[in-house]
Amino acid sequence: MAHKKIMKYNLNFAQKEIWSRLVKKAESGNIANAYLFSGPAGTGKEGLALMFAQLINCMSSETEICFKCDSCIRFKSLQHEKLKIIVPLPAPKSNKDDDYQLISDDYIEAINKKSIDPFYKIKLPKSKRIIIQSIKHLKKKIYLNQANGGRNIVVIFDSELLCEGQGESGNALLKILEEPPDDTTFILVSDHKKMLFQTIISRCQLVETPIIPDVYILDWFNNQNVEKSEFLVFLSRGNMHQAKFLLSQPVEKTTSTIERLINLLLQKNSNQWRNFTESYSRLSLKDSKKFEHHFNLISLWFRAANRYRQGLNSGFDKTNLLPQIVDFNEVYPKANIYAIILCLEDVSRSISQNLFMPLILLNMILDIQKNLNE
Ligand SMILES: [Zn+2]
Repeated sequence: MAHKKIMKYNLNFAQKEIWSRLVKKAESGNIANAYLFSGPAGTGKEGLALMFAQLINCMSSETEICFKCDSCIRFKSLQHEKLKIIVPLPAPKSNKDDDYQLISDDYIEAINKKSIDPFYKIKLPKSKRIIIQSIKHLKKKIYLNQANGGRNIVVIFDSELLCEGQGESGNALLKILEEPPDDTTFILVSDHKKMLFQTIISRCQLVETPIIPDVYILDWFNNQNVEKSEFLVFLSRGNMHQAKFLLSQPVEKTTSTIERLINLLLQKNSNQWRNFTESYSRLSLKDSKKFEHHFNLISLWFRAANRYRQGLNSGFDKTNLLPQIVDFNEVYPKANIYAIILCLEDVSRSISQNLFMPLILLNMILDIQKNLNE
């Protein structure tokens, strides 16, 4: 099957401009204490952060990763003593200060996958925030790890989750950033910069990644020999996570999922709504990635309906979803599509917070219904 193939990504090509800016920074030797890589999901921020870390520490070159020196080889497998990767973890079971809780088998397996696929998204079960123990552990180690040359790099994925709850992890990190250890660079990565403390943001040099260009994604799909690659590019919207999800299932399944979900949201059928809120509440806990992909698809359909309304190519024109879009615009000519898309985005964002999903989903359906007849 197509998705079993090893997929190659040339991230420095997909994000050419950002990468050349990072190379210039490395070349200048003027490396900041802290960076914040932010931008939409699926644009390669985490992969770029890791490549930048590798470049800074490459022993042969300042302008490209040599992939051959000792440092590059160990960075490639993400097993370098100068590299520390912090991710959200489950709350520890005991207060004991043991590293085993931080470096679990799940963590090691996830890091391995990440080293092979820069777009692999690390999501360990029940991990809703970056726990204070991770920052305490970091603080203990980082000031000691000054030997052997090279630069310590601390990469923090989903860094907005430092500021969840009471934000104690964010505050602890802030203290470190205020007096950073020598030869150390922090790279915070976030899809949701606005959720980070302003005091943290102000300590960081900002690197904003744009979405991945369609030509790159088209090329990537074509290399996997998939059908309807242009339609899949449209559905990906510059997000490689979405592209990978779309590749993992037949395109017919994607279109039938869209059709089913849209029918369910448009029809006034309280039984179906109940089923939807129950099953998607479960999905949000069990498989938040799939949940997000489905919500992306719903949102895309409404964008397509809006484009059709304006006489533009909807993006769905050559698919069997077009009749549904035509019908929608006939039945709901005044629907406030923009408000509906905002409702969907609110729900997608709320998934990382500990909110009561059945209620959020029901409110979303009612909001959509209200906005259909504005
Ligand atoms: Zn090297």
